[in-house]
Amino acid sequence: ELNMRQPIMAGNWKMNPATEADALNLANGFCALLNEMADTCAMDDKEGCTEVVLFPPFPFISKVKDIVAKNGISVGAQQVYYEDKGAFTGSVAASMVKSVGCEYVLCGHSERRTLFSDSDVNINSKVKKVLEFGMKPILCIGETQEEYDLKITKEVCAMQVSKDLAGVSKQEMKNVVIAYEPVWAIGTGLVCDAESANEVHKYIRSVLSKMYDDEVAQSMRIQYGGSVTPDSVDGLMAMSDIDGCLVGGASLYADKFARIVNFQP
Ligand code: PGA
Repeated sequence: ELNMRQPIMAGNWKMNPATEADALNLANGFCALLNEMADTCAMDDKEGCTEVVLFPPFPFISKVKDIVAKNGISVGAQQVYYEDKGAFTGSVAASMVKSVGCEYVLCGHSERRTLFSDSDVNINSKVKKVLEFGMKPILCIGETQEEYDLKITKEVCAMQVSKDLAGVSKQEMKNVVIAYEPVWAIGTGLVCDAESANEVHKYIRSVLSKMYDDEVAQSMRIQYGGSVTPDSVDGLMAMSDIDGCLVGGASLYADKFARIVNFQP
């Protein structure tokens, strides 16, 4: 059947670059390259074009947005806390990132799960908070190397989807994106082969179909993440159920990310 889902490419800068000047250089460089690429779709937001989102560190979000908005690119936050406000030193609330122009928020990235003890219960609260504030969560799921070796990838993904989206309504699911990111592929250079990733994406849709219905399952955009590069993006995007990529390392290079956004399926 025809894939009617709008492709979505996201750049997760993680804790990079080191300074505001470097961050603005990266954003400017990326936009300059997109402007040079005549047939790019990322330059406007008309139907059928690729949606592009950048996730800079908190201090750079506003200024990066000012630069990239002209190219129809939106910005998001890499993380928020699930409480609204108060004595939570060091934390950032959904209302705050919303007020500086964030459209998306990453929820449940594996680095948050492992390094910052983000549990499925907390991730579920964050997903709901992001939706409550009219933003769109990109829910990151995926198996660890150990779970991959145990061949329980599907079970892990099903468990994460059901726990992290518990209580999210069918209506709200229109604003959710899922990123399948095998943890063993993140930052390792070991990209999951496209066929295997596609199998997991299909399986995630079957889980969504049971939790919700076929309409939710078929309209849900599911990104692949984990060592995506200009060399692997075309093969991934040629797959029936891969609707975009969540890119870490390669999104720190304007030329690489511009090529990824302009994938050639
Ligand atoms: P990577 O990171 O592209 O550097 O593997 C992906 C991610 O963590 O989202």
